[in-house]
Amino acid sequence: MEEFDFDLGIVGAGPGGYTAALHAAKNGKSVVLFEKDEIGGICLNKGCIPTKSILHTSEVYAQTLNCADLGISVGEVKLDYSKVQERKTQVIEKLRKGIELALKNAKVKVIKEEAKIKNSTQILTKDGNIFNCKEIICATGSSPRIIKGLEFDGEFILSSDDILNLQALPKSILIVGSGAIGLEWARIMSNFGVQTTIVEMAQHLLPIADIEVSKRVERIFKTKKIPFYLNSSIKKIENKEVTISNDEILHPEKILVATGRIPNITDNKIDGVKYIGDVTGQIQLAHFAIKEAIEETDSIPFRKDLTPSVIYGTPEIAWAGKREQDLEAGTLKKTTTLISSLGKSHCDNETEGFIKLLAQDKKIIGVHIVSKEASSMLQQILIAMQNDITTDKLKEVCFAHPTYSEGIFESLFKIN
Ligand SMILES: Cc1cc2nc3c(=O)[nH]c(=O)nc-3n(C[C@H](O)[C@H](O)[C@H](O)COP(=O)(O)OP(=O)(O)OC[C@H]3O[C@@H](n4cnc5c(N)ncnc54)[C@H](O)[C@@H]3O)c2cc1C
Repeated sequence: MEEFDFDLGIVGAGPGGYTAALHAAKNGKSVVLFEKDEIGGICLNKGCIPTKSILHTSEVYAQTLNCADLGISVGEVKLDYSKVQERKTQVIEKLRKGIELALKNAKVKVIKEEAKIKNSTQILTKDGNIFNCKEIICATGSSPRIIKGLEFDGEFILSSDDILNLQALPKSILIVGSGAIGLEWARIMSNFGVQTTIVEMAQHLLPIADIEVSKRVERIFKTKKIPFYLNSSIKKIENKEVTISNDEILHPEKILVATGRIPNITDNKIDGVKYIGDVTGQIQLAHFAIKEAIEETDSIPFRKDLTPSVIYGTPEIAWAGKREQDLEAGTLKKTTTLISSLGKSHCDNETEGFIKLLAQDKKIIGVHIVSKEASSMLQQILIAMQNDITTDKLKEVCFAHPTYSEGIFESLFKIN
């Protein structure tokens, strides 16, 4: 048994943990970072990055199949899913090497072991070593929620971890839950031609979104012939036969259960330890974990109520701030600009969607976008929201043509 001294000890090397480590080290602190699995956490190894890598391939595949309208004819389009997986792994490894190098350059001591936080100043490893730390950050992340009757078996009933490692695509899949993970996988699978069905307990798909966004998503999924059951759940599963709550019976080859994630914390929280990211059970997004890390290391506060949400795929869905259903009717101004009113959308053949702004006293308090490039457009509005820039002031900005952002400019004139 040995004892070591550090300024800062961090458990978990996901976006929260590695960001805190890099920033604290830059600020001159000696830092030890523990990771029991792979550097990069869920985001890099089992979340944001691998799903977006596979999503990208699925979109190129679907576009290639449907490019005749653009005047392009192709021969037989073949998919080699093992190559899709190979590329996903390459992307992960490349990015992981980048983070590992950054940690090395910053002189962060990385220990690839499970660690236990004993108290507000001590971390223990299984071999009995003690790390005395002036400060401790717990960034242990989260794991897929297990639902009774839908326990993961890695073969038929899959978690978001299991589905990433499929070596071949199924013919059909049932997705339980229509949050970000469920919808992104529904898009991936249907792009690849897998017969995809969604079961959602709430009244609408993507129930965390603004009501008009949810309704638009439903319309888009109907057009794409992705059936979904609302106000529904899984009643029973017997011999791969799935009975849903309306007694309809489905026979999917696989089921993906995407019904949320639970924090990786077994004991009670320890006073004096700072908890950041998914483990807090608040907003489970990588950028939220990153901002919480920077808030801790660099004392840069951030508006948690303005944390952006993005669902990737075609079209992107992005929002921040208040939703229409959260506000009393009559207290706000609202405007919706159709993406089809923008020249660029016709050039790109991507006319689906809208930009919706909610404002009070000439300040934007909610933004909800369904569009190609929605994630980038959202960021422009967020800067205005964060800085209380009025809609009048925003009108002074020159927006390039032809762009999707012009839709923001148009909306400003409709909202006052
Ligand atoms: C399929 C999927 C897609 C996603 N897509 C997006 C997206 O597009 N955008 C987005 O913002 N978010 C996305 N997320 C969420 C995002 O991955 C998480 O919000 C983010 O990873 C949280 O970061 P974190 O640092 O809090 O924890 P994590 O990334 O979960 O990292 C925690 C780390 O701690 C380690 N650990 C746990 N306990 C111990 C211990 N005792 N000792 C040592 N190490 C330990 C774990 O092994 C893990 O590596 C997605 C998640 C999933 C599952």
